[in-house]
Amino acid sequence: VQRSLVLVKPDGVRRGLSGEVLRRIEAKGYTLAAVELRTATPEILAEHYAEHEGKPFYAPLVEFMLSGPVLAVVIEGERCVEGFRSLAGATDPTVAAPGTIRGDLGRDWGAAVQQNLVHGSDSPESAAREIGIWFSDLT
Ligand code: ATP
Repeated sequence: VQRSLVLVKPDGVRRGLSGEVLRRIEAKGYTLAAVELRTATPEILAEHYAEHEGKPFYAPLVEFMLSGPVLAVVIEGERCVEGFRSLAGATDPTVAAPGTIRGDLGRDWGAAVQQNLVHGSDSPESAAREIGIWFSDLT
C-alpha cells in the first residue's frame, strides 16, 4: 500500500493545528502509520530539502523549519501521495483553494518563506526517500 511523508511545519504546530491536520487526514480515509513530534536538525533539513539548495528561499526555509518542533507523520492508503497534496492545496496559502488545509488555515505573514503549515511528499519515490530521512527505523 502507498505511503507518504507529511510534516506539520513549525507554524502549524505553534498555532495548535496538528490535530486539525491529523483529523483531515483521517477523515479522508488514510491511516496514520507513524506520528512523532520532533525538532529538525540542519542535517535532516539538508537531506529533506536537497533539491532546493542554492535557491533564494533556502536559508530562510531552513531557519523557519528549525524555529520549533514539527509533527512528522507517515500516512498510508491507495494514492495517498496525490491525495494528501490535494488536501494540502497550493504552495502559496493566499491563493490555495478554500477547502484545503492551506486555503482554509493559512495566510501570508509577510515572511521571506511561505509559511504554509504542511509538507507532503510529491511522488512515491520522494515519499520513500523522505520516510527514510525522518523515520530511519521504519524503512
Ligand atoms: P508544493 O510542492 O505544494 O509547492 P512543497 O512544500 O513541496 O509544496 P516546495 O516547492 O518543495 O513546496 O518548496 C518547499 C517549501 O519552501 C514550500 O513549502 C515553502 O514553504 C517554501 N517555498 C517554496 N517556494 C517558495 C518561494 N518562492 N518563496 C518563499 N518560500 C517558498
